[in-house]
Amino acid sequence: EIDLHDISFSYQGNTVLEKACLNIKKGEKVALIGPSGSGKSTIADILIGLYPDYSGTISIDGTKLDETNIPAWWQQIGYIPQNMLLFNSTVGDNISFGRPYDVGKIDAALKKADLYQTMQAQDGAETKVGENGAFLSGGQKQRLGIARAIYQEPQLLILDEATSALDTSTEERIMKQIYSLGKNITILVIAHRISTIEACDKIYRIENKKLVVVKDFNSLK
Ligand code: ATP
Ligand code: MG
Repeated sequence: EIDLHDISFSYQGNTVLEKACLNIKKGEKVALIGPSGSGKSTIADILIGLYPDYSGTISIDGTKLDETNIPAWWQQIGYIPQNMLLFNSTVGDNISFGRPYDVGKIDAALKKADLYQTMQAQDGAETKVGENGAFLSGGQKQRLGIARAIYQEPQLLILDEATSALDTSTEERIMKQIYSLGKNITILVIAHRISTIEACDKIYRIENKKLVVVKDFNSLK
């Protein structure tokens, strides 16, 4: 269980969050929405421990997150940041980063995990394992980022507008794949398109620097 309690945070005097609370149970699929600039990415970054300079508490399964347990916390997270960074290396290297023992076996591993599907575009344009990750299109990079995060087999998967560059049918296919990863994986999806988060158990919206639970999904349509 992930619990953010009364989180306040400012960037050099610009207050983004004021006593924001968020609770995610193990295995839940939770969406985070809100206008551009409202603080969604900031929440994701705080949750992974990138900005320790917040007030309030973050606890993971009842244990307060602090500098001593952040490295272990990272091991459990597959994070697809909004401005995803790829290494200037092959698609295969980009995916197997973090699981170096898989280098050389990546082709077989991707087939087994159905990640080849994730990587491919709807029109069948291929993303080859040996290709340089830096030369891919925006959407191809996003799919590579998703494949990389899934490949880590994380306990928590955070997608920060990770499918924003995809056409809707490719997005639908990939989100379906992500949502069916299983009960043991907790998912936090930041997105603008309502169709992206339709399958979520709970939706939070940022309002006036706080997080509110959206009770009526239809009110978003
Ligand atoms: P979007 O939907 O456009 O991705 P967002 O909800 O993710 O927006 P954030 O990126 O969290 O919004 O930004 C929230 C606020 O914090 C904005 O006003 C932004 O200008 C500011 N901000 C974000 N990152 C930084 C930073 N590194 N330094 C200073 N200010 C920042
Ligand atoms: Mg953002």
